[in-house]
Amino acid sequence: MEAKHRLPVGRLEERFTEKKPLYTPAEALAEANRCLYCVDAPCIKACPTSIDIPTFIRKIAADSVKGAARTILTANLLGESCGQVCPVEVLCAGDCVYNEWGRDPIKIGRLQHYAVTETLKRDPALFTRKAPTGKKIALVGAGPASIAAAGYLALEGHEAVIFEKKAIPGGLNTLGIAPYKMKGHAALVEIEWVLSIGGIELRTGVEVVKGEAGAGQVSSADLLREYDAVFLGLGLGPDSNLGIPGEDGAGVVGAVHLIERIKSHPGLQLEGVSRAIVVGGGNTALDALHELSLLGVATSMVYRRTEAQMTGYVHELAAARLDGGTLVENRVPVSVVRDGDRVIALRVAESRDGKAIAGTESDLPADLIVVAIGQSRATQIALAFDGVVVDPKGRVVVDAATHRTGNAKVYSGGDCVNGGKEVVNAVAEAKIAVRAMHAQMMGA
Ligand SMILES: Cc1cc2nc3c(=O)[nH]c(=O)nc-3n(C[C@H](O)[C@H](O)[C@H](O)COP(=O)(O)OP(=O)(O)OC[C@H]3O[C@@H](n4cnc5c(N)ncnc54)[C@H](O)[C@@H]3O)c2cc1C
Ligand code: SF4
Repeated sequence: MEAKHRLPVGRLEERFTEKKPLYTPAEALAEANRCLYCVDAPCIKACPTSIDIPTFIRKIAADSVKGAARTILTANLLGESCGQVCPVEVLCAGDCVYNEWGRDPIKIGRLQHYAVTETLKRDPALFTRKAPTGKKIALVGAGPASIAAAGYLALEGHEAVIFEKKAIPGGLNTLGIAPYKMKGHAALVEIEWVLSIGGIELRTGVEVVKGEAGAGQVSSADLLREYDAVFLGLGLGPDSNLGIPGEDGAGVVGAVHLIERIKSHPGLQLEGVSRAIVVGGGNTALDALHELSLLGVATSMVYRRTEAQMTGYVHELAAARLDGGTLVENRVPVSVVRDGDRVIALRVAESRDGKAIAGTESDLPADLIVVAIGQSRATQIALAFDGVVVDPKGRVVVDAATHRTGNAKVYSGGDCVNGGKEVVNAVAEAKIAVRAMHAQMMGA
């Protein structure tokens, strides 16, 4: 299937090779045959979308790859992405019974990727929409939450219209995922497949705003008036700042911003950058560390606490280290040192419990400083919908059982609700919201 939206050529992303390439049929069969098809399968319970993992693996072993894909996609419409980007080490594969015996867990993600990709390449018409209901839903944002929600709504016979402010759809699934896991193009092809279900319109370059809408905008009031329901899949906002002297200016960049440029901008060069420092301790920091290391930049990650206290996954740090990334623990950034406009070092202080110890400052040489200490919230627009509230951390407040907000017509899910988790969580939350929206709209 061809993607209508395309990323330009000449992106740094194109230089990366996949760490987990698509299985061949023989590899998939061999791996599927290792599965024990556990009756009380712990891997299913560990999947936020509850994919029936032993069933789909058994279908691969029985040479029903299409059947396997149907099992996966019924539970998770973005199963092709999730097979590549899910942190399986801490989800399904992390709970596979093989771990208890000190043996390699089943490569569930790779089997899932194989089943869905092979099927959608040859036989994409897997599902049939129900009869039209006449109901129309607006979805704000075209990230995984809204794309999954639109797909499930369309299958129920509803019409879905997605409004995305960027020119490229897919949110962080297109513009944030580490390129050695999945490239942006794959996310765009998957979106095309969801759109092929029918009944979904994707309007890119249209921002949903509060108050009067200008060119390239639509107002929240119009959505509430013209649609039977609204789904907010807003994601998160821009990278947070360190707030230290010398930070403003060239050579200091937010991690999500930098990764988006690596993945989508043609001609981005890292000329003159031989040493980089990433500030942070989460998974975005680890991705930046790993990606820059693979691009040949000597990169260290500076974290204010110890390795054991990092929120980033242990397996991601181990993988980044294998490709040359290093970690500097117990250091707090104090200022950015510049020679004229040019960044030459990050000044850090030693830290105890995350707090700087006075008189311990030293300089870590660097040409580029990448700030990965979290993203701000983008939920101001949520407040434009009467009755919707956000919590003190800026997350959209929903009822956990329905994902309905304080406005009976407005639902929400994904990063803007959970504060930033994974693609699979966005899909799981979209499913809950769609079930409740459908019941409400159909008066069930
Ligand atoms: C660097 C990085 C790497 C990641 N790696 C992984 C990974 O390996 N595996 C994994 O599972 N997860 C990963 N994640 C997390 C994952 O990408 C997110 O959990 C997921 O994309 C959330 O989906 P979402 O739809 O809620 O939000 P997003 O993907 O952020 O999409 C929200 C969309 O809404 C649009 N939007 C916002 N406001 C408006 C408005 N007013 N009008 C119109 N459009 C609007 C935005 O432009 C955006 O396209 C990563 C995240 C980051 C930052
Ligand atoms: S726990 Fe492991 S062996 Fe058991 S069904 Fe799941 S993947 Fe197969």
